[in-house]
Amino acid sequence: MCLGCLFLQIYHALHFMFNLILFGPPGSGKGTQSANLLSKYKLQHISTGDLLRDEVSRKTPLGLEAKKSMDEGALVPDEVVIGMISSKIDENPSVRGFIFDGFPRTKQQAIALDQLLDAKKAPINLVLALEVPDVELTKRILNRALTSGRADDTEEVIKKRVEEYRAKTEVVASYYEEANKVKRINGEGSVEEIFALLTAEIDPIILPE
Ligand code: AMP
Repeated sequence: MCLGCLFLQIYHALHFMFNLILFGPPGSGKGTQSANLLSKYKLQHISTGDLLRDEVSRKTPLGLEAKKSMDEGALVPDEVVIGMISSKIDENPSVRGFIFDGFPRTKQQAIALDQLLDAKKAPINLVLALEVPDVELTKRILNRALTSGRADDTEEVIKKRVEEYRAKTEVVASYYEEANKVKRINGEGSVEEIFALLTAEIDPIILPE
């Protein structure tokens, strides 16, 4: 084993936490790539979209409130998703790190996340931003609609979701760019090609487990 790798292993053994944001518009492949990254690096996945869909399917008060925004392709209010993220972080006190998928989606959410992680002395280490043109996004989501069963995978709602992303979420990348944490990744290509680009950014920071 190389000296650098040995150093990394000792460093991790001394409670290094790795927190990653997988960032990108709807349909950019965040869900698929998260699943692959999880199995390689053994991190805890937090997807606000998945958490919200679970609340909707269980018809909880939160789910009933969120459903309307989700069906329209609009964002759910910040305080709702921030509350969910806060509980999820608290439920997982001794993980190696988190992959945040679909969160933060507004600057307010990003600020709240920084505060939650500050309390753990475990900041966001890296933001990997998948970049895919709008035409390709629509094509992919319509294709996904054939199997996903998601009520928001229709052409009209997709348009609104992409608009929300451009209007409210893209600023999140600038927020993290100020802290030099963003790497932009070409999200067009095969799942394997994109995975290789992502891992090339992560491997210098954390070893696979
Ligand atoms: P996703 O599966 O990440 O595409 O999310 C599906 C829908 O859930 C979005 O269109 C929003 O309505 C809602 N949602 C998911 N994550 C967030 C978030 N971080 N902030 C606000 N709304 C969210």
